[in-house]
Amino acid sequence: MSSAQRQGDACVVCHKRWPRPRARVGRFPDDMTALACTDCAEALMPTRMATVVAFPSR
Ligand SMILES: [Zn+2]
Repeated sequence: MSSAQRQGDACVVCHKRWPRPRARVGRFPDDMTALACTDCAEALMPTRMATVVAFPSR
């Protein structure tokens, strides 16, 4: 796990930095949000993807 992944700059699954990972797929022990690109997030949890994407940004 790279620091970029921990800071949400890279997908936690495929390490891609672009397109920027937008799907929240989990949490690290230090309370950072684990982000994955949409492709990987779909592979991880195909049924919950819609909920993650529709999460309101407040
Ligand atoms: Zn990915």
